[in-house]
Amino acid sequence: MSAMAPYPDDLPRWRAAARIASRARELGLRLTVPGARRRDVADAIEAYVREAGAQPAFPTNLSRNDEAAHYTPSADDTAVFEDGDLVKVDVGAHLDGAIADTADTVEVGGSRRHENLIRAARDGLRAGIAQVRPGGPIEDVSRAIAEAIRAHGVKPIVDLTGHSIEPYLLHAGTSIPNVPGHSEGTLVEGQIVAIEPFATNGMGSIRNGPFGNIVRFRRDPGAADPALARLFGRFRTLPFAVRWVTASEERDALRRARAILQSYPVFVERAGGLVAQAEHTVLVGPTGAEVLSAPLPD
Ligand code: MN
Ligand code: MN
Repeated sequence: MSAMAPYPDDLPRWRAAARIASRARELGLRLTVPGARRRDVADAIEAYVREAGAQPAFPTNLSRNDEAAHYTPSADDTAVFEDGDLVKVDVGAHLDGAIADTADTVEVGGSRRHENLIRAARDGLRAGIAQVRPGGPIEDVSRAIAEAIRAHGVKPIVDLTGHSIEPYLLHAGTSIPNVPGHSEGTLVEGQIVAIEPFATNGMGSIRNGPFGNIVRFRRDPGAADPALARLFGRFRTLPFAVRWVTASEERDALRRARAILQSYPVFVERAGGLVAQAEHTVLVGPTGAEVLSAPLPD
């Protein structure tokens, strides 16, 4: 017998957050052109999310080439995108903790050398979503993702996974692996999950790289330190960018709070392979997936 999770009681809010995230992702893909500054693209995506009435659920990830995930520009990032860069535009938006997480990959400029990797990630996502059903094994989703990616002659990354999402919690308890053999769980009706295959021409696993300018509160710091309490009020337990903290007393508070901050390294493909990613946030509906972050007509 499969458990019945309650649907979020504010499902319209989850759908609305996902529409905003979807449009922000498409904006980011359009802006990622040769000569564009990485910092400017992240700022533009996050400004769009805020102007639409939501908040970024995490810093815009603009990981490049063999960086698979978790790079966001620092305040003084001066890098510009170059022809042929393979850029993952991974965007999150939330409305009062109702989170959407979505990504796609763009090859910068007109070279079209890595289209196969981008197709592999997108096909993996499509195949995984097609296996979503209430009470269905997560294993079915994982197997479909892996097979679709391998059909392109490239590899799924085994140590990056999709995840369930709960209010203010981007990575909740359930993982959605991108290869079979790692999950005995089932999907539950009413659950919100992010499915996110990564395809690579490298060895198919990642190592931790340098700090990617992203941190997160592990717990509520309490009221003793007012600057820190303000920051927690703003970000709760969601990941945030160091560049978003501009007031000097808040910067100082962050330095004092190291012990309760999780800091994220960039995930880099272990063999230096190029990486493409595609991701949607879906609702496990009564008969299958409702893709909340699907592309929308303009
Ligand atoms: Mn993501
Ligand atoms: Mn995700």
